[in-house]
Amino acid sequence: MATVLLARQLLTPLERIDDAALVIEDGIISAIGSRDAVPLPANARTIDFGDSILTPGMIDIHIHGGAGHDVMEGSGESLTAIERLLVRHGVTSYCPTTVTAPMDETLTTLAALAKAIEDRESHGSADPHRARPLGIHLEGPFLSHARRGVHPSMFLQPASTEIFNRMWDAAEGRIRMLTIAPELEGALDLITAVSQRGVCVSIGHSNATLAQANAGIKAGACHATHTFNAMRRLDHRDPGLLGAILTDRSLTADMVVDGVHVEPVVVDLFLRAKGVDGAVLITDGISATGMPDGTYRLGSFEVEVRAGRCESHGKLAGSVLTLDLAVRNVMAFAKMSLQDSIRMATLNPARVLRIEPRKGVLRAGADADIVVCSPAGEVQRTIVGGMLQ
Ligand SMILES: [Zn+2]
Repeated sequence: MATVLLARQLLTPLERIDDAALVIEDGIISAIGSRDAVPLPANARTIDFGDSILTPGMIDIHIHGGAGHDVMEGSGESLTAIERLLVRHGVTSYCPTTVTAPMDETLTTLAALAKAIEDRESHGSADPHRARPLGIHLEGPFLSHARRGVHPSMFLQPASTEIFNRMWDAAEGRIRMLTIAPELEGALDLITAVSQRGVCVSIGHSNATLAQANAGIKAGACHATHTFNAMRRLDHRDPGLLGAILTDRSLTADMVVDGVHVEPVVVDLFLRAKGVDGAVLITDGISATGMPDGTYRLGSFEVEVRAGRCESHGKLAGSVLTLDLAVRNVMAFAKMSLQDSIRMATLNPARVLRIEPRKGVLRAGADADIVVCSPAGEVQRTIVGGMLQ
């Protein structure tokens, strides 16, 4: 049976449609448009969301955990807990993100994650309360010692196609993103090899000079990870990788907009540099997300969480940000519209992962992953794959 959603407004997000109707059939959007223009199927169930706004479901391409669970636990139960939390915050799909750990532990985790993702695809996809994993984001182990943040120094690895292939095989090819420091010896060959497999290579945790960053981009890197955090500082005579990230229009870049990782005025500066089409919102969320203050784990180490700040030995260790709050923070910090802000959490990350025709957008033929929200960006309801509870 078809379902028709009505709302005051719909953001595709490239277009804004007032007095909107959206038709769902078999989990797919079959039509969108203004109420009087869309032919409504006979016998359809109609739900009127009144003054609310329909947007695509959000996509978090960098998240380590939530609801007390860490992706590195590698179990179906931990992903389930994280996925339930994500749906409550408007996220319908995501990339479970690893942290640098001992190689044998990493391989075991990757195999478990691959199995959990596969099980989900074959059995559990019809769960309206859980976000869907899209594939794994490897944050490490090919990171700069100088800009490793909290990634344990002893487990960082030289950039090696052989090591990457071991991880690729363990993950059964379910790797979607790789964050890498392009200045590492062997990194350029690895970037080329990995990007040719359709994986998004993102530069980050890096001390690269401008020339080294440009070489990484030429080799195939197309994105940047948590801009300004764990990077060589921007200097007017030594711009480093930030010089490339902020000016290269071929590169998209993400940011943790929680008001802790980057000052609001620098968020504004970043968004002016990247534009509404080049910026992506991430959470970098850890297991403490959605939980009270206390001590939590991120991979193999402990993190202290106090008043929205996650620290390990005095260094920032991820966040407790949720993606819906990131959207509202962009509206507040940079005076951007809901339409532009939501784009950075929907269409733009879908483009990073090259899944745009199916996800990140409301259009006929796309998956019916939908958020119902207020004009202020507060999530009222999340619909995963067209399923309404
Ligand atoms: Zn990081």
